[in-house]
Amino acid sequence: GHGDSHSQRQVDSVCPYCGVGCQLTYHMNNDALAYVEGRNGPANQGRLCVKGRFGFDYVSHPARLTKPLLRKPGVAKGLDPSFDPAKPLSHFREASWEEALDVAASGLRNLKAAHGPEALAGFGSAKCSNEEAWLFQKLVRTGFGSNNVDHCTRLCHASSVAALMECLGSGAVTASFMQALEADVVILTGCNPAVNHPVAATFFKQAAKRGTEIIILDPRGQALDAYASLSVRFTPGGDVSLFNALLHVIIAEELYDNAYIQAHTEGFEALKNSVAHSTPEAMSVLCGVAPETLREVARRYANAEKAMIFWGMGISQHTHGTDNARCLISLALACGHTGRPGTGLHPLRGQNNVQGASDAGLIPMVLPDYQPVGDRQLRAAFEELWNTPLSAEPGLTVVEVMDAIHAGSVRGMYILGENPAMSDPDLTHARAALGKLEHLVVQDLFVTETAQFADVILPASAWPEKDGTVTNTNRQVQLGRAALPLPGDAKPDWWIIQEIAKRFELGWNYAHPQEVFVEMQQSMASFNHISWARLVREGSVTYPCPAEDLPGQDVVFSDAFPRKGGLAKFSPTRPLPPDEPVDDAYPTVLTTGRQLEHWHTGSMTRRSHVLNALEPDAVASLSPGELNRLGVVPGEKLTITTRRGTITLTARMDSKIPDGMVFVPFAYAEAAANLLTNPALDPYGKIPEFKYAACRLAPLVSS
Ligand code: SF4
Repeated sequence: GHGDSHSQRQVDSVCPYCGVGCQLTYHMNNDALAYVEGRNGPANQGRLCVKGRFGFDYVSHPARLTKPLLRKPGVAKGLDPSFDPAKPLSHFREASWEEALDVAASGLRNLKAAHGPEALAGFGSAKCSNEEAWLFQKLVRTGFGSNNVDHCTRLCHASSVAALMECLGSGAVTASFMQALEADVVILTGCNPAVNHPVAATFFKQAAKRGTEIIILDPRGQALDAYASLSVRFTPGGDVSLFNALLHVIIAEELYDNAYIQAHTEGFEALKNSVAHSTPEAMSVLCGVAPETLREVARRYANAEKAMIFWGMGISQHTHGTDNARCLISLALACGHTGRPGTGLHPLRGQNNVQGASDAGLIPMVLPDYQPVGDRQLRAAFEELWNTPLSAEPGLTVVEVMDAIHAGSVRGMYILGENPAMSDPDLTHARAALGKLEHLVVQDLFVTETAQFADVILPASAWPEKDGTVTNTNRQVQLGRAALPLPGDAKPDWWIIQEIAKRFELGWNYAHPQEVFVEMQQSMASFNHISWARLVREGSVTYPCPAEDLPGQDVVFSDAFPRKGGLAKFSPTRPLPPDEPVDDAYPTVLTTGRQLEHWHTGSMTRRSHVLNALEPDAVASLSPGELNRLGVVPGEKLTITTRRGTITLTARMDSKIPDGMVFVPFAYAEAAANLLTNPALDPYGKIPEFKYAACRLAPLVSS
């Protein structure tokens, strides 16, 4: 109250971690965040996982950036081996905003003047709001003058989106994960929801208890196996052969939905021909699943009245990631399992705003709402909205930018809230590229590994410090509200992007994210009938939404698909081996991913007290048999070597991991998993093969 030294407030917002998009309330004690509680949002119904509940104190970590920083002259770029976030930075000096912004922008402008627009690139962030994503891609397109703008969707679901765009004409999910409660059968493949989408996992558990049959297809076991009626392990990289066998059975046994296929699809004959020889017997050899099991899975899925397929990065992060997703789409189309309650296709999105950042146009080949940059008419609408000519050439993707730096064509970058010095495959190559940049501007909360390569570091805002919208995996647009004041001289990300834009003479003058949202609505049909005022009132609205006073559509494509003639398309595939199969020299499969407690490159969760206490050390998880073979006891150190590098980790026993495989989380800078990963790309989605590299394990011999 007034005159009271203690003030307690509550601020409603959304969790900043995963794509589930749990709604939460920040409980404030004066200007400090005291604790967090779940709210009754559509995707969480009051629940939160350990990250959402306890992972908030990174915002006040002592290493938080509070002043703009400039690299001291003569200091070489690169990871500083003596880097200690607790000590003053020896390689940088503090600067005023005016000076830092001038240096940041003039460095980029000079490179553009000398070498043309293609010399610049930008990585935006799926951790920022929709409004910030919009501003960032607008800056790159209208200020830098190219489409060289991408973000971490390239590393997670780019292949899923490529297949969904090709086959259905839309890259988002066809139904929310809450629809699992309506389904008779749910297939979970290449995902581990109890770890990576924990609150979505609670809906799957609930569904199983109500009688939904859960079928899990994965090389690894997982916690949800306990809720599954069938849990099938397959050979790593054997996914396409497995799915083609399922399609073969569905066609051979005539389990498909002919009426649906005739009314809503094209290309079924081509699919039929392509899987004619993919018998369970033939495919069993490639995917390691017994023919009878393949028949059983196909029958259960096809014979269900309502069935859904959920997938994660075990599907997408392969050189055949797009083919994997094409197969899953074919399964749903062949059986008529889309467009009704309890049916659908759902790639579980990773970052809290990876759906929204993609929708807002942080993608090099498309403008906002997936409008191809090469389409003259669609481009003209944006040229009019922004009053600037735009490039018709698709830009470079995340991994392609690193190659272009090595080739000398990209020379300057602006990186907002991404950490490619940890997240890119083959880090030695990626870090060498960052070190080669003539000018690098990094905007973040901390001196990340990437920021150690920067010329200018701009102190940004954390999610609980800003207003903005985000879009979760279910297509739910949700409002986040500022609860905390900004620390020191840190600024909101939208403000910083605008200051850079002003120095490119773009004449921006937004006073609040709400004004950006209004501009987005002028060109993004997905935001129709979702006004800011409505979001303030309702907190969450699903797109597409038919009217201001009606709810959005949880299930889409009941009548037609957004393709020519309204028809979805079957896209045939054929099994290909992993890019780097295991051999005598590198006999073990390395697969990478996340842990429940740590998020991506760890820049937030490793600075959260509770989360870091739960999982403090870099671990490698192996089967008891594999540990035995190596002669390593859990807790001892081992080394993992691929053709690209070696790291040392602590061994952990995990009986859910098959023999012949090691699982390594990629959050740990001191043992960076991506020093080992293979940068080979899926040809369509341009996503690297994070889920499969050939490696060799050895006990660490102490000297
Ligand atoms: Fe946050 Fe995802 Fe956990 Fe929900 S499930 S609390 S959105 S990390």
